[in-house]
Amino acid sequence: MDINERGDKVLMNTYGHFPICIEKGEGVYLYDSNGKKYLDFVAGIAVNTLGSGNIKLIKAISEQAEKLIHCSNLYYTLPQIELAEMLTANTAFDKVFFCNSGAEAIECMLKLCRKYAATKSAEAGSDTAPSEIIAMQNSFHGRTYGSLTLTAQPKYHKGFEPLLPDIKYVPYNDFKALLSTISGNTAAIIMEVIQGEGGIIPAEKEYLKKVRELCNETGVLLVFDEIQTGIGRSGHLYAHQAVGITPDIITSAKGLAGGVPIGAVLARDFAAKSFAPGDHGSTFGGNPLACSAALAVLDELLNNGLLDHIKDVGEYLGKQLNSLKNKNNSIKDVRGVGLMRGIELYDSVSSNEIINKCIDHGLLLIGAGKNVIRFVPPLTIEKSHIDKAIATLSEALK
Ligand SMILES: *Cc1c(COP(=O)(O)O)cnc(C)c1O
Repeated sequence: MDINERGDKVLMNTYGHFPICIEKGEGVYLYDSNGKKYLDFVAGIAVNTLGSGNIKLIKAISEQAEKLIHCSNLYYTLPQIELAEMLTANTAFDKVFFCNSGAEAIECMLKLCRKYAATKSAEAGSDTAPSEIIAMQNSFHGRTYGSLTLTAQPKYHKGFEPLLPDIKYVPYNDFKALLSTISGNTAAIIMEVIQGEGGIIPAEKEYLKKVRELCNETGVLLVFDEIQTGIGRSGHLYAHQAVGITPDIITSAKGLAGGVPIGAVLARDFAAKSFAPGDHGSTFGGNPLACSAALAVLDELLNNGLLDHIKDVGEYLGKQLNSLKNKNNSIKDVRGVGLMRGIELYDSVSSNEIINKCIDHGLLLIGAGKNVIRFVPPLTIEKSHIDKAIATLSEALK
C-alpha cells in the first residue's frame, strides 16, 4: 500500500487530500516523502509564521519542554502571563483568554458576548437579555457548532442542522443591511477584517467606521475574527490596526505560536469583566509550551523587524500579482494586503487545476472562495521566493 492508500484506510474522510505526504521543512521549503522539494505559499494555512526549522522557535520550545510542558490553569505560569502582557501591550485590549484553536477562540468569544449582554441587562433590572449575534455572509469562523453557525456559507451547514439559535446573517460590506437587521435584541456583530476562506475579500474602511459608530451608539459589541488576518499578515500585528478601527473583542489563533496549537480571545476590560471564575475554561489552553512558542513568534514580529519585512515583501507580492494580471487574461481580480493575497480567476479557468499544476512544479498554493488562489506564505519569505512563485504560477496559467 502506498502512503495515500494507508491514510485513506484509517483516517476519516473529511479532507480533500492532495496525494503527497510532507515529511520535513526548511525555511520556506517543504519536502515530501519522495524527497521532492516545494516552495511553501500555504504555511499550514497561515500558521507557520516563521517558516520551518526556525532556530529561535525551536530553542524556545525545547527549553520550555525541559522545564515544564503543561500545567493546570488552576496555577499561574510565567509564559502565559508574559504572552498576555505582550499581546495587551501591543493592542488596545486589556484581557486575554487562551485556548487551543481558532474555533475554540470563537466559542469563548460567543459565550463572552452573551454573558456580557446578560450581565448588562441584569444590572439594568431586566430579566431578558439580548441574545442575537449578527454574522456576515460568506464568512468563515470554524467547524464547531457555534463557529459553524457563524460561518454563513450553506455548503458548510448542510447535513448538520439544527444549528445554534439566534444567529442572523447580513451581506458583508453592506451597512444598510446591517442597520435593518440590528435590533434591541442584538448582542454582538462579528466579522473578519478580510474574509480569508471566503476568497480574500477585504472590508471597506468606510464600512468598518460606520459599524464602529453604530456599535458605539447601540452598545452592541463589535468583534473582529483576526484568526487568519492577525499575527503580522497585514504588516501590522493585527489587521484592524492597519485600518485604524478598533473593535471590542478579537479572536486570534493560526500563526500565533508559529505552528504549535493555540487560540486567544482579546477583549477590552468592560467586556472581559463579565466573565467570573467557573464561566469558562480549557485544560490545555495557554499551556507553557504553546505560550513560549508564541513569545518567540511575537519577539520576531515586534522586536526583530519582521513587521517591516512583511510590509516590504507584501507590497512586492501585490505588485507582482498585479503585473501578472496585466500580462495574463485569466486573472479577474487581485485582492488582499501584506502577505495575505488572493487572485480571482475567470470562470473559463479552474483555480483547482492551476493549483494542481503548481504543486506538480514544486509550488504549494491553496484555494479560497469561488475560483480564488490564496497566497499566505511564511512571513519570512523573500522577494526571490516571490519571483520564483510568480514564474511558476505564470507558466501554469499559460
Ligand atoms: C481558520 C479560521 C478559523 C478556525 O480556526 P481553527 O483553528 O481551524 O479552528 C476561524 N476563523 C478564521 C477567520 C479562520 O481563518
